[in-house]
Amino acid sequence: MPLINENFLKLKTGYLFPEIARRVKAFTESNPDAAKRLIRCGIGDVTEPLPEAVRYAMHEAVDEMGVRDSFHGYGPEQGYEFLRKAIATNDFQSRGINIEADEIFISDGSKCDTGNILDIFGKGNKIAITDPVYPVYVDTNVMAGNTRDADEKTGAFGGLVYMKCSPRNGFVPPVPKKKVDLVYLCYPNNPTGAVATREQLTVWVNYAREHGSVLLFDAAYEAYIQDPAIPHSIFEIEGARDCAIEFRSFSKNGGFTGVRCAFVVIPKTLMGTTKAGAKQSLHALWSRRHSTKFNGASYIVQRGAEALYTDEGKSQVRALIEHYMGNATLLVKACKKAKLKVYGGANAPYVWVRCPEGVTSWQMFDKMLNEANVVITPGAGFGSAGEGWFRISAFNSRANVEEVCRRIAEIK
Ligand code: PLP
Repeated sequence: MPLINENFLKLKTGYLFPEIARRVKAFTESNPDAAKRLIRCGIGDVTEPLPEAVRYAMHEAVDEMGVRDSFHGYGPEQGYEFLRKAIATNDFQSRGINIEADEIFISDGSKCDTGNILDIFGKGNKIAITDPVYPVYVDTNVMAGNTRDADEKTGAFGGLVYMKCSPRNGFVPPVPKKKVDLVYLCYPNNPTGAVATREQLTVWVNYAREHGSVLLFDAAYEAYIQDPAIPHSIFEIEGARDCAIEFRSFSKNGGFTGVRCAFVVIPKTLMGTTKAGAKQSLHALWSRRHSTKFNGASYIVQRGAEALYTDEGKSQVRALIEHYMGNATLLVKACKKAKLKVYGGANAPYVWVRCPEGVTSWQMFDKMLNEANVVITPGAGFGSAGEGWFRISAFNSRANVEEVCRRIAEIK
């Protein structure tokens, strides 16, 4: 028998969402009537249809594939030039950010990208994550052997630096006292819905440059930023080209959660080092990794993503964001009215809510499921600092959100 990667055995019972699914399944099987009025505000999946501009572009691309002269087989692993250029122009250069098309790598999702990026980093790096955190950053480090076992009580993995986020620091951690090599930052944040100001990100970039660290900046929710003073990209901060990688996704702006398309930005100026101290380009390593393990995102999907940058595409994305942010506003209001302490929901599609005194986040999950027939996400699933909190996702129809608000008002 082959030996297995024993790091997998260190992982806890499951990724958060399978556990939620298990509890919801048990509830619906034993309460078939209540199950009919169940509203899911747990998983962060979009609900509204794919923008028309995307559908037209994809239809056209399908037709091209039906003609020998315009058929597309394997594409460039790094992505088609038309999409990389559209991204560089619209997301970066038009905002005064110095990012070139060939610093962008198209992929089939940010979940894969944020996990796969560890391929290009060596063993022995000090890795910092926020707590609470998008669980993928933690679990992929566990799988890669970058941690020791989890602590029985807290669930924290030995070897990782956990940076507590709470209302006290606005859910943006201060820089660590000691040097860390890799730092995962996600703003607008999943799960807390917090954003990081230009000043806060500048402190992080300065720290990273001083210590030779790399910031892994996940901007999956940048399209939800409403406040014009909040940066959409880490590369808006001076010096970030020398210390940051950015992850972006079309999942939450263009509704691509099922279509699948995302990208990574790695500036050519960004370096790592060998043990012997020789500088190496992280862009070159990722390019090598991408060409070896990935065969490119589908042509049809990339044409769809390109359409998000047309005038029609942009206005349809704006309408989607307005819809979800309208939901977030209603949810925040309903929670406040119910005397719950609530954060987020102003520049992100997530509302982060304090559980009533003495109630744990899984108890709150069960309470919401049983009494309100609403599925939320227990904060503890995002790390020990998430205990005592829960997340409500604004990804839903307006009618469902209005109904959730009514039910929140009735919770005892
Ligand atoms: N990053 C964050 C912070 C997310 O919340 C999610 C999805 O929920 C992703 C990345 C995954 O995005 P994708 O659909 O591109 O894999």
